[in-house]
Amino acid sequence: MADSFLSIQNVKKSFGDVTVVQDFNLHVEPGEFVSFLGPSGCGKTTVLRMVAGFEEPTAGKIMVAGKDVTNLKPNKRNVGMVFQAYALFPNLTVAQNVAFGLKVAGMPRADQEKRVAEMLNLIKLPQLGDRYPFQLSGGQQQRVALARALAPMPKLLLLDEPLSALDAKVRVSLREEIRSIQKSLGITTIFVTHDQEEALSISDRIAVMYGGKAEQVGTPFEIYNRPATKFVANFVGTLNVLEGTVSDAANGTVRVNAQEVALKGKLNGSRNGDTLSLALRPEAITLGRRPGADASLSGEISEVHFLGSVIRVRVGVGGSTVSLDTFNNPSTPPPAVGQKTDISFASNDLLVLH
Ligand code: ATP
Repeated sequence: MADSFLSIQNVKKSFGDVTVVQDFNLHVEPGEFVSFLGPSGCGKTTVLRMVAGFEEPTAGKIMVAGKDVTNLKPNKRNVGMVFQAYALFPNLTVAQNVAFGLKVAGMPRADQEKRVAEMLNLIKLPQLGDRYPFQLSGGQQQRVALARALAPMPKLLLLDEPLSALDAKVRVSLREEIRSIQKSLGITTIFVTHDQEEALSISDRIAVMYGGKAEQVGTPFEIYNRPATKFVANFVGTLNVLEGTVSDAANGTVRVNAQEVALKGKLNGSRNGDTLSLALRPEAITLGRRPGADASLSGEISEVHFLGSVIRVRVGVGGSTVSLDTFNNPSTPPPAVGQKTDISFASNDLLVLH
């Protein structure tokens, strides 16, 4: 791709006989924030390390800004990296940590001091330059690690699960800050995570990985609403799966729990009698009848969980259980276990899983 900034082309990585990354292709635009999302062991870190130059691909090519960097040493690639564990030098102060790459590059001392001050402002810790890492909280240490990675003004920022060692509240605030710093600098960034909410909330695009391959690359909206594979559909978000049987392939209808549902345009060459897995996100389903919903199924409430602003309800429909959320309405009694009910949805929201 002519204008992609980072281009990973047909990359493969094997350790001995074991191939852990294969057919990996990704084109990242300048200034884009792309997350690698996937379960443990799917190869996220290995791809990141190949981009950084810590691992050599067994096959394929990596281009940065139009230049082939596949065989370049890490220190020649102009990338900044932040790791999961705080990798600060314990015997150096915050300012010395941030200045580290600048010193190695031979930057004059006065320029180093100016850049360090800018970086400490950027991470909102301007007063902490003289502290040592052990005098900082986990979140502060990761901010310093970010400042250290950004100080030499790299072309590419690589973040390997930088938030996973932090507690939930700090994670959320720091991820928002990382995103806002990344946007303000316009730096092309790859962010590795196994946390789907994290990936959905901060990325321009997400590469969902499984078994060493990119299963789907798309915007958070596309990944969540139009998952390309069964794996993506199940890994990202909550999903209700219903079994259906094609009843009239020509007209695009499927029988679900003895009721016909129209699925025009989604049957992809299926034949009458084929069974299909149909999926619905909880938010696509309404308890009871909803005006405008063209499909409904009858069931019985099996579980009710009061969560405050919403009430999570599970409804048995035939042999399946469907989970949905209703808003808590203080003037109406909540749904009750055992209650017979319809659930309704727009047939257009049904995903056919292949
Ligand atoms: P996690 O979220 O757990 O860090 P990941 O998706 O980042 O997982 P990788 O660390 O890329 O996964 O590992 C992918 C596979 O490659 C794993 O099965 C791992 O055991 C294997 N692997 C990684 N590095 C090496 C190595 N140096 N030698 C042999 N196998 C390795």
